[in-house]
Amino acid sequence: MDDVKLWFMKSFKFTLLGFLFVLFALSLPAQKINIQRVDPPFWWAGMASANLQLLVYGDNISLSKASIDYPGIEIGKSILVESPNYVFLDLVISPDAKAGDFDIVFKKGNKVVSTYSYQLLERVNDKGLHQGFGNSDAIYLLMPDRFSNGNPDNDDMPGMLEKADRSNPNGRHGGDIKGIINKLDYIKDLGATTIWINPLLENNMPAYSYHGYAVTDLYKVDLRFGSNEDYKNLLAAAHGKGLKIIQDMVFNHLGTNYFWKDDLPSRDWYNQWPEFTRSNYRGGVVNDPHASVSDYNKMVKGWFDKSMADLNQNNPLLANYLIQNSIWWIEYLGLDGIRQDTYPYPYKEFMAEWMKRVLEEYPDFNVVGEVWLSYPQAVAYWLENDNNADGYHSKLTNVFDFPLMYAISKAFNEDEGWSTGTSQLYEVLSQDYVYSDPQKLVLFADNHDGDRLFSKLGEDLDKFKLAMAFLFTTRGIPQIYYGTEILMTGFEHQGHGYIRKDFPGGWPGDPVDAFSARGRSTDQNTAYNFVKHLMNWRKNNKAVQEGKLTHYVPENGVYVFFRQTEDECVMVLLNNSKEDREVDMRRFAVNLKGYKTAKSVLDRTFLDRLDKVVVKAKSPMIFELE
Ligand code: CA
Repeated sequence: MDDVKLWFMKSFKFTLLGFLFVLFALSLPAQKINIQRVDPPFWWAGMASANLQLLVYGDNISLSKASIDYPGIEIGKSILVESPNYVFLDLVISPDAKAGDFDIVFKKGNKVVSTYSYQLLERVNDKGLHQGFGNSDAIYLLMPDRFSNGNPDNDDMPGMLEKADRSNPNGRHGGDIKGIINKLDYIKDLGATTIWINPLLENNMPAYSYHGYAVTDLYKVDLRFGSNEDYKNLLAAAHGKGLKIIQDMVFNHLGTNYFWKDDLPSRDWYNQWPEFTRSNYRGGVVNDPHASVSDYNKMVKGWFDKSMADLNQNNPLLANYLIQNSIWWIEYLGLDGIRQDTYPYPYKEFMAEWMKRVLEEYPDFNVVGEVWLSYPQAVAYWLENDNNADGYHSKLTNVFDFPLMYAISKAFNEDEGWSTGTSQLYEVLSQDYVYSDPQKLVLFADNHDGDRLFSKLGEDLDKFKLAMAFLFTTRGIPQIYYGTEILMTGFEHQGHGYIRKDFPGGWPGDPVDAFSARGRSTDQNTAYNFVKHLMNWRKNNKAVQEGKLTHYVPENGVYVFFRQTEDECVMVLLNNSKEDREVDMRRFAVNLKGYKTAKSVLDRTFLDRLDKVVVKAKSPMIFELE
């Protein structure tokens, strides 16, 4: 009792002040509240989950009370936070609620201080939407600022802090959504079925904003790329051509210029440190059984960069904000997949909850996670499985194969040896037992964060062909990076701008147009035609998409593997040595059983006997067995 008294005495003057303030506030004529923002900006009737949590932002909105009068919609709870300018409304939407507009009415006492018109839309029930991606797909990754400038008028936009400067490798160059739409036929002709686009959402940061990973509005396409409507048109145009779209998302951080930068809902919205503390970028810490607490904290709570605020997804309101945002984009656009950035950096239980909720809404959907670790065991932890020692279930459907990327980068540069050359490919693949399903891996030779493949391979066209032949025939879902098909170069140590150069011909007035054969050099055409041929062939070959992989320990510099279904078989021979090799095929008798002849996929070679084959130095051969 004494404690309570003491507390009362101490807090009395504050309570009194508060009481007087409320009395004062109530005595004023009710001021209209300007609601500056409601997220998500609209929603849909008939979603799998009945729950929708609205973030409402407006001056002292927390002092008012919200109500909704619409059949099938109720406000379950209003949640207040540290800042008085937010209220989070838990809406419960019954399955019978019809699409329509309704008012959210905010009152102080009996006085209406604000009315916000909210929309519940009809869902588009097209079975072709949210189809996910899989082994029949091949992914083309592009960076929108650097691919094609379809609308020079939006290169600089009012209110956007960074202006276009094409002479600065790390500046904004003006590529946009219209540019992507213009080049859909190019991507389709190349043989890709799916496009992964680096983030398109607003990055209104003063500098180095072109890459898109410092999002400043999760509900808005960057004006310099176009509008939300343009993005929707891109999806429609892509789907019209049978192409799928994967959206790049970032849950670990947001640009420090997000609208709430000076008025966080609560201090714990971000992971706060006494002074700026960078992540240690050691993703393996998260599943390291011996990890120290301080290393873990730095990894997960450290900031990715000064311009990127580290989000605390352990705050349930922020968690919901992110999860709903991803569902909003999937539903709004009819997305086919998500690529999630920096997968081990956010809290992993939150990531699993996110996956659960996405799959509840879209059971066939796919998310590929960026787990940038070089060991298969570390990557396998994140791909949904029943084997994690700590019982963690990520529910993640796909993951990038970074270990194989490293192996590809080395294998074709090295002389063949016990543990060099194609042995590296063999050894990485031999560890596939750690994955719940190795076919769910997205494999790649380069992406927007590392050295370009052609540079890694010493600008050697033969090595390039070997790498591409491997990429499009081994297990998993292949992904290439824009410009790889025309031998674009660049090393990461020169600066990220150099691995993300403009696609030649993507800008009006470009001296060279590599989108067309006439604009490409002989070598570029050779590379382009090689990739195009492989990708288009892969599109229609079930064995190479789904077939069981059997590979043979590399011998004499030749790595041989088969992809086999019940009635189709593909044989791949990669000669990584500097000499022509005659390969004795008796070793492959088990795989060749039942087949008599073979037709080359890459040239006109036809084998009328399957006893031996000559593979030229530093060359691939791919056969369909007959
Ligand atoms: Ca533009």
